[in-house]
Amino acid sequence: MEQLQCHVKQYAWGKYGEESEVARLFADGHDNFQIDNKTPYAELWMGTHPDGPAQLKKCSTRLSTYLAKHPSLLTNNNSAKNIHLPFIMKVMSIRTTLSLQVHPTKEQARRLHELDPINYPDRNHKPELAYALTRFELLCGFRPAREILKNLQTFPSFRLLFGGDTYAKPLEDSILEEKKMGVVNQESRKCLENCFRFMMDPDRSDVHNLVSKLLLELDNGLRGAIEEGTAGVIRKMSVDFPNDIGIFSPLFLNHMILEPGQCCYYAAEELHAYLSGECVECVGCSNNTIRAAMTPKYIDRDALCSVLNYKMTEQKDYLVPEMKLTPCVDMYAPDCKDFQLHRIRVGTEHTSKEMLMPTLDCASILVVVSGKGTIEEATQENQLIGKYEVKRGDIFYIPPKHNVRFLECSEALEGYRTFSYEMGPDHDTRLVTPVSKSTINEKMLKLEADMEAPTTVVNKTPTAVVKV
Ligand SMILES: [Zn+2]
Repeated sequence: MEQLQCHVKQYAWGKYGEESEVARLFADGHDNFQIDNKTPYAELWMGTHPDGPAQLKKCSTRLSTYLAKHPSLLTNNNSAKNIHLPFIMKVMSIRTTLSLQVHPTKEQARRLHELDPINYPDRNHKPELAYALTRFELLCGFRPAREILKNLQTFPSFRLLFGGDTYAKPLEDSILEEKKMGVVNQESRKCLENCFRFMMDPDRSDVHNLVSKLLLELDNGLRGAIEEGTAGVIRKMSVDFPNDIGIFSPLFLNHMILEPGQCCYYAAEELHAYLSGECVECVGCSNNTIRAAMTPKYIDRDALCSVLNYKMTEQKDYLVPEMKLTPCVDMYAPDCKDFQLHRIRVGTEHTSKEMLMPTLDCASILVVVSGKGTIEEATQENQLIGKYEVKRGDIFYIPPKHNVRFLECSEALEGYRTFSYEMGPDHDTRLVTPVSKSTINEKMLKLEADMEAPTTVVNKTPTAVVKV
């Protein structure tokens, strides 16, 4: 296995300085890194994606280059300069709402990339899994139809936002009809799409008034299908994103509150936004995102409205159950080939047999988030390769078929290991699709207006500096 140096993203929505688990964890695993209390530390990236590539600690070689030079089951392309893992594992520290967004399917991602490689730099899709390290809140997927109906009938501002008698009424009628017949049909989805498209009309001028009206309705005690905590989320959004259409989103999206250890997953076509807390996130190795609201970034309304599935879903459908594999390892396996997650918890009481990790036929990345211990690595034939002292903050690449086991742990240890049996995407051909100069100029102007543009910070140790 190889110890990795990874990247921290300083997006504006991250927690500041020492308050950020991302900053604290990064500092514990990367020498000479100084936490700046005025800087937001949002995401720690652990993977090969070119926007935040990991490198080997011992020599600063990119992990993707190392994988290309050490062909294994991962590669069937011996001439590639880089071999990518199909996933990125991240730790996230969220202070304020991320943009309301959706990710395309593989097919949609390929099409969007061909049409607009600047805003959609990857051909790959980006399913997402979030495992709560602390209490973690997000909006995810349209609420069940009965809750959307209740909110339309409770909040006049929301009903107007959704098109009043022209668009909201047909949705209400369709939901009531479905309820009466006891069946779910496509009609309600179509009506919801009409409401959503009306809401997203860029020319509408009544959002400011409708937001004021909604806040007044909340002050007057109207709640509909929302909990008290959700009213608080709406009020906070109205401060963080004044007059943004996204302030209404908790009325039509599920507000999920995950306790530590709970995990949720959503694939493409689901509208979502992270609200607060810290999580381990697994995503497809891609950066393709279509944004809807609460962002200064590019909002592609046409792509957004046509990608959404408009399914009205119960919260429990997004939860991923934990499966006990060994006394020390639990697995989270969503319906997705791009990643699976192991949670590893080794206590000082565990026997050496219990501390054996499952051997994986594929590559994986391990991050230690607490504790200290010793790991032994061996080949499939049980030939010893090495022993490593590991502690909080350490991140490792583990090659396919290597056996790893904890020999002992001096402090109870917790770690997360992400893996996948898929081939990773080919990022060597990123941004090669020809586009006309005028298109590029237009897109660049849009990008320049992007105040939230990601910046990357790397370890200040000279050997760790990466040219991105
Ligand atoms: Zn997302």
